[in-house]
Amino acid sequence: MPYLRAPEDLGELIGDGPAYRVDQLRDWLYDTPVLDAQDMTNLPTELRGAIGDRLWPFAVEIEQSADRGTTRKWLFRAPDGAAIETVLMGYPKRATLCISSQAGCALGCTFCATGQFGFDRHLEPGEIVAQVAYAQAFLRQIGMPGTPDHVTNIVFMGMGEPLANFDRVREALRRLIEVMGISARSITVSTVGMVPGIRRLAEEPWPVYLAISLHAADDELRTSLVPINKRYPIADLEAAAWDYFEKKGRRLSIEWTMMDGVNDTLDQADKLASIANRLRAHVNLIALNPTPLSDERPSTQLHIEEFAHALKARGVNVAVRETRGRDIDAACGQLRIASGNSRKVS
Ligand code: SAH
Ligand code: SF4
Repeated sequence: MPYLRAPEDLGELIGDGPAYRVDQLRDWLYDTPVLDAQDMTNLPTELRGAIGDRLWPFAVEIEQSADRGTTRKWLFRAPDGAAIETVLMGYPKRATLCISSQAGCALGCTFCATGQFGFDRHLEPGEIVAQVAYAQAFLRQIGMPGTPDHVTNIVFMGMGEPLANFDRVREALRRLIEVMGISARSITVSTVGMVPGIRRLAEEPWPVYLAISLHAADDELRTSLVPINKRYPIADLEAAAWDYFEKKGRRLSIEWTMMDGVNDTLDQADKLASIANRLRAHVNLIALNPTPLSDERPSTQLHIEEFAHALKARGVNVAVRETRGRDIDAACGQLRIASGNSRKVS
């Protein structure tokens, strides 16, 4: 499977063929991806046939469209059964792709569908990159109404905790940035607060954006929602985030999933404002997408607006994110549940 190899190792697929075939193949994979190996027009028929079904490291199990064709969601299935969710959101000047870094997640945040069903396995670098290549091929060859013909932004906000799969995510970033030529400034790594991973990412050469999924502004509440907070409490997370900001000069964002009566109080807004101001971070509010194993409800529109207003009044830069693809379960981990399969791989 071509994407499971590093670009440097594609020669093995060519065998005795001429060396320039490697460059041609690399262009088809990384520069101008195509959905089907038959579309690799300058490769000989036998080679296209040999790549055939093995072009992608997964099969498309579910493909769904919502928001008048401007949201598309895929559930890919790896040969060993691991589920990979990818969501493409089109806007007039942007095409944002939300990718997965793990099949499942071991961190068990109470409100998260992925967390509720546990961890299957890490995704390989090629499985992470192939999600981007697939969306590129889709936009180039099929397209989305009123949307650019290529992915303009990548967010690691699908299934999994990217910084708990550091080495593979690092290699995926290398291929995206150094081989595909995607700007590091168009990539956002979202983390629930894996402090050692944040520190390692800060040592890498690429100025990718960092999003911190905070959701609660004191340790007691945060630990009840995000269990890993016990190991990496807010003060440590804040220190690591600040170092990242200082090193990269990239504005941090804080993600805050709004849960009715849980984290939408003025007391939380007040504490969040202090953290956001110290970190000079931008806050994104998003209404909870209800999940099967949790009774939490999304905050009301009124409470979201009041919360946003309280943050603004304290000098915080805040945005309320629209929730795309509600009717296709586009929140993290939800399509896998809809497919009726949440089995563990190992
Ligand atoms: N593990 C990483 C990235 C994947 S989760 C992280 O937690 O940041 C991506 C984003 O979706 C996170 O901000 C997470 O808090 C949010 N999220 C998870 N479950 C959600 C839900 N049910 N409704 C709304 N947002 C959710
Ligand atoms: Fe894992 Fe992120 Fe979901 Fe928490 S919110 S369980 S870290 S995917």
